[in-house]
Order: sequence, then C-alpha cells, then structure tokens
Amino acid sequence: ATPAAIMTGTGRAAELGILFRKGEALQSLRDVTLIAFDKTGTLTRGKPELTDLDAAPGVSADDALRLAASVEARSEHPIAGALVAAAKARGLAIVEARDFAATPGMGVEATAEGRKIAVGAARFMTALGLDISAFDATAARLSAEGKTPLYVAIDGKLAAILCVADALEETSVAAVAALHAQGVATAMITGDDERTARAIAAKLGMDEVIAGVLPEGKVAALQRLREGRRIAFVGDGVNDAPALAAADVGIAIGTGTDIAIEAADVVLMSGHVSKVPAALALSRATMRNIA
Ligand code: ADP
Ligand code: MG
Repeated sequence: ATPAAIMTGTGRAAELGILFRKGEALQSLRDVTLIAFDKTGTLTRGKPELTDLDAAPGVSADDALRLAASVEARSEHPIAGALVAAAKARGLAIVEARDFAATPGMGVEATAEGRKIAVGAARFMTALGLDISAFDATAARLSAEGKTPLYVAIDGKLAAILCVADALEETSVAAVAALHAQGVATAMITGDDERTARAIAAKLGMDEVIAGVLPEGKVAALQRLREGRRIAFVGDGVNDAPALAAADVGIAIGTGTDIAIEAADVVLMSGHVSKVPAALALSRATMRNIA
C-alpha cells in the first residue's frame, strides 16, 4: 500500500468518525474474517434496569431489594446502578454497608443491618455454597428473554432472585447484518449468564457466543474463537483492553474508557458499532484501489 493511499483512506475514515490510529490497521482490517464483540456497553447500552424481583417464601421483596441495593451502593458496576435506582424508585432507603467485597465477574458482599448480604450471579452463589435450585425455573424463563438473573442471599440463605435487562444499542442489529452481508462472521464475548447471552445473540443474529467469561479470561476466549482466523475485537471497557491489544485489529468505542481507547488500533468516534461495517468497507476499498 502506498503511503498516499493510506493517507487518503484514513482521511476519508476520519470524516466518517472512524479514527485509524495506525496506517497498518487499515490494511489488517481488510483480511479479518471474524469480528468478536464485547456485549455490555458495546452491543448494548450498558445501562441495565431492574425488570423482575421474586423473593423466597417468608422474605419481603422490598427488604431483599433494599439490602441488596445497600451493598451495591458501594459498587461501580452498571448492575449496581440498576439496583440502587430501583430501590430509590420504590422509596426504599439505602443503609450503611460494611466489610464490602467485590469479586469481579461474580458479585458483591457486605454486612448491612448486622446481616451478611451477597448479591451476584448463579456461579457466585454456588461458590458461596448456596443451593439456588428453588429458582431454576424462574431463572430459565427470564434468561431466555435476554434478562440477566441475579441472586440475593441474606445470612447464608437464598432470599430472592432478580433480573436486570440492558437494552440493545439501536444500531447493533443493522451492524451485525451488514457485517454478515460483507462476508464476515460475528461473535459475542461476555461475562453474562450463558442463556441470557444466547438470547441476546439470537436477537442480533450473531454466529457465535462465549459467555460466563471472567474479566481476565477475555483474551483466552478470543484465542479460542480465533482458530487460525484473522479476528477483530470491538469493546469499550477497562476489561476489554487486553483483548483489544491481542486481536489482529482492536476497535474501541469512542465513548468507552480511556484504557480501551489506548489499547485499540481503531476508535469509533460516533455512532457506536454502526461504524464497524463502514470501517471494513473502507479498508477493503482503500486496499483495492492501490493493489
Ligand atoms: P460483563 O460486563 O461482560 O457483563 P462482568 O464481568 O462485569 O461482565 O460481570 C459478569 C457477571 O458477574 C454479571 O452478569 C453479574 O452476574 C456478576 N456481577 C458482576 N458484578 C456484579 C455486581 N456488582 N453485582 C451483582 N452481580 C455482579
Ligand atoms: Mg463493555
């Protein structure tokens, strides 16, 4: 590729809100046959809301939500924001939580009103030695709708199941369809529940899903998907930075975290994932013109 052609290509991309941080990225994107996406904040808005709440017999749903939200008030996770907002909307007062501990990709724990509270994924409850099978049917039904099931334990007893749902970014469906039309395969990598992730991937028509990935496991998931293919990864979060660096082409959402943007080869300044097909088309056109 001539430097002049690369300059024209990157200039054209910049006009579209696509920042190629290195000229080589314009070349390597052409050869990509698989594009993997982070889910939360990339394909979805990253602003989940509480949708369902079901307490165990003898437990007040308001109490379970109030205590769960009191623990989550100490967390920065988007799920925490959903629970705190839901508690406030119901007029439930947040109380002080002590001995707070967060386990990435699992959940949070603390003591509130002298009771030990844990909130998190099914695997977190299992790791804490809790039996969650009483809520299996509920969890299956809600996760099939693309909602993320979470559990609340109070003093070592399962107290409630609740769900949060995160709306799709408006442009995600069209972006995935456009990529398929361009002949590339798509995949989702997420820490979310397996069934939830599959339901969301099905709505988007995506080819492959790797769910239940711990934050430090994203690169391994990417390598597992790769199978000798040239792969691009699209993400926004701090946890996405290693995968953005490990992919053949790392593409960061411009409104994402600085750490993700710094690790990426390409930054989408506007329009979120809708610009991924445009970036691919531009890379192919540029390389064709100079071949
Ligand atoms: P992702 O951003 O891909 O959804 P995370 O690693 O942030 O993945 O979280 C994975 C899962 O861990 C969440 O779906 C949730 O079940 C659980 N989890 C993580 N943090 C929290 C939290 N603060 N409260 C409740 N659950 C949490
Ligand atoms: Mg994300």
